[in-house]
Amino acid sequence: MPEHQHTPALHSTAPRRAAVVGGGISGLLAALDLQAAGWQVGVYDAAASWGGCVGVHEVAGVELDSGAESFATRSTAVAELAEELGLAGKIVTPDPAGAWVWLPDGPVPLPRTGILGIPSDLHAPEVRAALGASGILRATLDAKMSASVGTTEAVLSVAELVRARMGRRVLERLVAPVVGGVHSADPEVLDVDMVAPGLRAGIREHGSLAAAVAALRASGSKPGSAVGGLDGGMHTLVAALVERLRANGVALHSGHAVTRISRPAKSRHDAGAPVPWTVDWEAGRDSGSESVDVLVVATDGPTAVKLLAAEVPELLPFAPAPGPDIRLVTLVVDVPELDSKPRGTGILVAPQVEGISAKALTHATAKWDWLADSTGPGTHVLRLSYGRSGVAAADAVRLTARPVDGAALTATALADASTLLGVPITDADVLGSDIVRWRGALPFAAVGHQGRVAQIHALAQQQPGLVLAGGWMSGNGLAAVVAGTRRQVRALVDAATE
Ligand SMILES: Cc1cc2nc3c(=O)[nH]c(=O)nc-3n(C[C@H](O)[C@H](O)[C@H](O)COP(=O)(O)OP(=O)(O)OC[C@H]3O[C@@H](n4cnc5c(N)ncnc54)[C@H](O)[C@@H]3O)c2cc1C
Repeated sequence: MPEHQHTPALHSTAPRRAAVVGGGISGLLAALDLQAAGWQVGVYDAAASWGGCVGVHEVAGVELDSGAESFATRSTAVAELAEELGLAGKIVTPDPAGAWVWLPDGPVPLPRTGILGIPSDLHAPEVRAALGASGILRATLDAKMSASVGTTEAVLSVAELVRARMGRRVLERLVAPVVGGVHSADPEVLDVDMVAPGLRAGIREHGSLAAAVAALRASGSKPGSAVGGLDGGMHTLVAALVERLRANGVALHSGHAVTRISRPAKSRHDAGAPVPWTVDWEAGRDSGSESVDVLVVATDGPTAVKLLAAEVPELLPFAPAPGPDIRLVTLVVDVPELDSKPRGTGILVAPQVEGISAKALTHATAKWDWLADSTGPGTHVLRLSYGRSGVAAADAVRLTARPVDGAALTATALADASTLLGVPITDADVLGSDIVRWRGALPFAAVGHQGRVAQIHALAQQQPGLVLAGGWMSGNGLAAVVAGTRRQVRALVDAATE
């Protein structure tokens, strides 16, 4: 029997109520900050578990991150949140061995001082090994050309910027593999300002792309290391956040898909009283609705626009394309030869490489000491990812030609892992495996995305009590999402306080 819970309309004297749609890191954090600012908050997530892309799964008895497994330390946002949640002592840095990149002519160590694969030090031996003499020669022109190259008003893709300043070899051999691994996308179509905020301004300030990368690397919370993690996995951040929300009395509704967002006509309300937002939800055969004066929509972009279509139809032209269909294959294997970490923390695959379908392999037990300690010597966790969007036609054919059924994909992953690590790994070595499909979860920041986001913010601001948050608004990655969500919620709280 469907259950209908209608909360009475709000008046200025009623306790302030807020609803958050989407319980990924963005929605959970929005709830934390709204509750702290005095709101009575309810969070709705369609999934049975919390955290969205920061998920957890168990493979061969080991609890592992099923999505995000690290955070960028170019800002202090994630570290501060972890500290706030009592996890300061759990922040860890990855093994310094660094990662590798598989180029059409074989594997080479990935330069460590880059951002998105763009090197800051062209004299580093790994940069030389990856680019060769001619590639280095072209890349050094970056320091000689005008700071205006790539920094004018024109919106640029990552590829355009890199090609203009450092040349094609840097793009193809360093940037494309990293961008494919991190953003599951082709640099030709990714908005540089969205995926590397501050980079173009850095060129103007420091005179070259290499210097801008060096400055950005030095400004992070952990200079020298681009990412951090948590002992126990990134999913422990979600667990701590959920525990805090529960303790603070936030109403947590998992398994509740929001199906509609509406606002009653203003005329039906007292003049001057805020017009509430109404959120309709469905949970199995139950359904209901809640009316609130503040609404945070922290789902993926296409869903947010769809849910708001009736009330804010102006958003429709800004609906982003769905993100790529990504599959992560996790293998827990018993292969003592991998104790030597043959490819450091993992390896990225350049798109032009034939015969390997994976775009990246993370050797998780080589990357994180806490994980190696928990599995013990000889046992290894390998994570291979498949699928990218915005790929060139030839690459798309290669990807779609790959089998998608589970057993075949696991077999492909075993073959890819053997090639990439240079160690044969067979079915008999596998202690456990799992395939996680992330469909549309990674927002796709196509060229011009940042401009469109600014317009979306402006449209949302015209709707009192509405915030749009999450990866599609802030940029992909935990650092961007945490900082962006907090900024947005702070603006809303300030506006409400005024
Ligand atoms: C495989 C993978 C690996 C990643 N690795 C890293 C990494 O190592 N480091 C890093 O910094 N970033 C990583 N990212 C990116 C990072 O995880 C995301 O940028 C971030 O978690 C996005 O958070 P979010 O809250 O905006 O969105 P999401 O996590 O996508 O959360 C959105 C939530 O909305 C819910 N929802 C959708 N529709 C509805 C509805 N109608 N009603 C109710 N709820 C709804 C969904 O169930 C979901 O829980 C990774 C992403 C993926 C997919």
